Amino acid sequence: MGPDVIVVGAGFAGCVTARILADAGAQVLILERRNHIGGNAYDWLDENGVMRHEYGPHIFHTNSEKAIDFLSRFTEWYDYEHKVLGYIEGKLVPIPFNLHSIEMLFPKEKAEHLKEVLINVYGMGNKIPILELRKSDDPMIQELAEYIFEHVFKYYTMKQWGYTAEEIDPAVTGRVPVSISYDDRYFQDRFQKMPKGGFTKLFENMLEHENIMVQLETEAMNHIHINTDTGLVQYKGARFTKPIIYTGLVDQLLDYVNGDLPYRSLEFNVRTEYGEVQPVTTVNYPTPANEHLYTRITEYKHMMENPPQERSTVAVELPYAYDRNAAKGNVPYYPVFTDESKKSYQAYVDLLKDIPNVYLLGRLAEYKYYNMDAIVEAAINFSYQFLEKK
Ligand SMILES: Cc1cc2nc3c(=O)[nH]c(=O)nc-3n(C[C@H](O)[C@H](O)[C@H](O)COP(=O)(O)OP(=O)(O)OC[C@H]3O[C@@H](n4cnc5c(N)ncnc54)[C@H](O)[C@@H]3O)c2cc1C
Repeated sequence: MGPDVIVVGAGFAGCVTARILADAGAQVLILERRNHIGGNAYDWLDENGVMRHEYGPHIFHTNSEKAIDFLSRFTEWYDYEHKVLGYIEGKLVPIPFNLHSIEMLFPKEKAEHLKEVLINVYGMGNKIPILELRKSDDPMIQELAEYIFEHVFKYYTMKQWGYTAEEIDPAVTGRVPVSISYDDRYFQDRFQKMPKGGFTKLFENMLEHENIMVQLETEAMNHIHINTDTGLVQYKGARFTKPIIYTGLVDQLLDYVNGDLPYRSLEFNVRTEYGEVQPVTTVNYPTPANEHLYTRITEYKHMMENPPQERSTVAVELPYAYDRNAAKGNVPYYPVFTDESKKSYQAYVDLLKDIPNVYLLGRLAEYKYYNMDAIVEAAINFSYQFLEKK
């Protein structure tokens, strides 16, 4: 008989969709090229007793009731509020840069004055993107904005993206605005909790369904072929007219006919440590590359409900330009948004417009930065719309 639906990719996009369609009675086959489920949220208990996040630290935070309700079917939660410190002029100060950061970096009198001006102009509790702060007419704010830009954004952005902060889409630097408050938390969302037992366990529970079959270590593009000229879609050499929900790279899906879409990749140099290495989960190094080549260091155990005392696991993060053929930097992590890349992506989407049974969903297929809660919500919405149309 074969599956009713093929889902490519076992990350949040694929698994949430698979579960909703399976609940509605569809036989779902998930093809996943890695040897595990969970996509980039995959975590595992390592030899130090630390819940390691294989593809970088993943912190769940949301205001979406829809995402909370759905995921809470598959996990219990524990409280965790993420804090990040930045290494600036030899000190560890709160990031996003806030009123505490000012107090730690400037002499008392100057700090008081700067805070007063910021509060008067922008209002307590507000968040201001750095590029907006730099446009201020007030000389005091301008001076502070230049300081923050230089010490928090300039080199971090160049290391992370390979572009200057001015060249990259303003939404990127806007994601970590300057905060006019004393709140040192990285996120302010109402719901800040981590799944008890980890993300992978949550995924296992989600996929535990008689209508879902998962094939790991299966490169979908070895089995799926699309001819955009004739509209023919094939699975394992035979015409396939049932839905394919594709959460992988859209350029790969279409055999790179318009070239590769640019991504930023990362390498995590992981090592075992003893005791505690740093006071919070993540310390950013917004310093020039000749001072620190890496962007941040993560000590995973700070995210755990019951962390081991003696041992620790630390990951040093190094950004790379993505190259699917390279030995390092061959995992596509972040889309690099430029006018050109957005156009190239759209050209790929246009090629699929006459192929009604292939759906693009998720951060790779939609060439979009999604947080976990956002892709969960998008996948729920997609699935119900999909079911309505059937
Ligand atoms: C370093 C980093 C840190 C992050 N931190 C956070 C955070 O703290 N909080 C947060 O909310 N979000 C975070 N995110 C975002 C989060 O990772 C995404 O929201 C989430 O992974 C998106 O899920 P997805 O299913 O779209 O993609 P993915 O998780 O990437 O899943 C796609 C899956 O499809 C598989 N696949 C792709 N192509 C094929 C193919 N051709 N054949 C077979 N399988 C294929 C892949 O192997 C992968 O498993 C972070 C992202 C990164 C990169």
